[in-house]
Amino acid sequence: MASNTKYIFITGGVTSSLGKGIIAASLGKLLQSRGFSVTIQKFDPYLNIDPGTLNPYEHGECYVTDDGAETDLDLGHYERFLNIPTSQNNNITTGRIYNNVITKERKGDYLGKTVQVIPHITDEIKSNFYKLGEEGKYDVVITEIGGCVGDIESLPFIEAVRQAKWDLSPNDFLVIHLTLIPFLKAAKELKTKPTQHSVKQLLEAGIQPDILVCRTEYHLPPDVKKKLALFCNVQLNSVIEAMDAESIYDVPLLMKKEKLDERVMSKLKLSSKTNANLDNWKDFLGKLKNPTQAVNIGLVGKYVSLPDSYKSIIEAFTHAGASIECEVNLKLISSEEINSDNFKSKLKDLDGIVVAPGFGERGFEGKIETVRFARENKIPFLGICLGMQVAVIEFSRNVLGLENANSTEMDPNTPYPVIALMEEQKKVDQMGGTMRLGSYACDLKKSSKAYAAYGKTKIQERHRHRYEFNNSFLEQIESKGMIASGKNPETGLVEIVELKNHPWFVGVQFHPEYKSTVLNPQPLFVKFIQAAIDNKLK
Ligand code: GLN
Repeated sequence: MASNTKYIFITGGVTSSLGKGIIAASLGKLLQSRGFSVTIQKFDPYLNIDPGTLNPYEHGECYVTDDGAETDLDLGHYERFLNIPTSQNNNITTGRIYNNVITKERKGDYLGKTVQVIPHITDEIKSNFYKLGEEGKYDVVITEIGGCVGDIESLPFIEAVRQAKWDLSPNDFLVIHLTLIPFLKAAKELKTKPTQHSVKQLLEAGIQPDILVCRTEYHLPPDVKKKLALFCNVQLNSVIEAMDAESIYDVPLLMKKEKLDERVMSKLKLSSKTNANLDNWKDFLGKLKNPTQAVNIGLVGKYVSLPDSYKSIIEAFTHAGASIECEVNLKLISSEEINSDNFKSKLKDLDGIVVAPGFGERGFEGKIETVRFARENKIPFLGICLGMQVAVIEFSRNVLGLENANSTEMDPNTPYPVIALMEEQKKVDQMGGTMRLGSYACDLKKSSKAYAAYGKTKIQERHRHRYEFNNSFLEQIESKGMIASGKNPETGLVEIVELKNHPWFVGVQFHPEYKSTVLNPQPLFVKFIQAAIDNKLK
């Protein structure tokens, strides 16, 4: 393993959903601001090889990296905070670990040996802990361990963290435990016992946390901090308060105020490479909190009951809105509830409309109604992936008059398959990891709205789909005013469609939201919000 890389492990206790991903990303940001190169990886305890086959209701959005990995949504936070791309190596599941070990066993790599959780599974976990560090690019690798200590399924990960302490020199290894300090209303008291218990569980597993990060709704009084330090065996200044924040983007500054980065650096014997500089970040926060205008945007999809299903889209609106000092009031609207009778009332008062990515037939006709409404009423429209496909289908049905035009995903027997399964997908017989995934090139037409947004003709965006625009309908569709303004240079696959006679109507086969970061808001989102502002002022 790389001898000069520092490894920070973040575990969680008491309950899930404490925001380990945001704490990891915030610490990463603070260390980055001091001149260190940092990456963050997540180890998830479930048995799926990746979250690509999970329903978004189960686990929120599936985030896609440049190299086409289907990953946990926390990787989106890492990219949005650190402004550097992640990869397959940044997200490992128990399923992937077992798959690797079993594949090696079948090859005969362990010939003669009984293959066991310890050492074979733990060795495989550890070799994945160190993979990014071994690339030699990073001063610090932060590893987030999914789940809570004490969960049966995360035991091998915790054991691997314990062993990592012995692989690494003492100054290169650090454990941060994220925990909850609940407030009991009746007793009017912050309680430390759950944290004492979860640290005890870590101790039983052989791990002494170096730093406690304590989620709390109220400031921790000195006596509570003292108690935590004493009973959890950590230094008093290593009990870090993490108050609930107004926005996830406040957390790096809150953690800086609490000196989390200083504690980490002192324990890892690191000294700043540069003066900590968070000016860009503060600039972004200033704009985010002081908007000079506001728009109402409707996000129409079928997974709206769990907003995490659209995490990257929601965050992309935050970045893009802040960049032009515009508050984006995002209204999540269920496409299943929209029909040809009620669409006007469901979609009223919107300055712009997004039709979200998705799979399957449920809520599909509601999306068609939505696109029709945006097209006919000249409301700025952004269709993402399935949203773009719906735009093509709606146009084919209602402008070209191709009755029952559809995607073969929704209707395999449609007379007009304007969206159809990609050629390379026809031979696919397994569901996991087999979509068209990751970054692909796209060439833009100079006269297009897409070009006006990106300001260049060659772009790269990330994909996650099986179906595509059927080029045998291209001529017919273009002749009526829907143009293909972006195409893949190698395959000719249509990646972007736009309407000529509309103020701003853009459908993209890719997912622009995945590449939006705090420091680099995604240009299509910025232009779409601008078009919504213009529409509102009309
Ligand atoms: N279901 C569509 C396809 O597979 C769109 C996928 C998506 O929106 N990510 O092509």
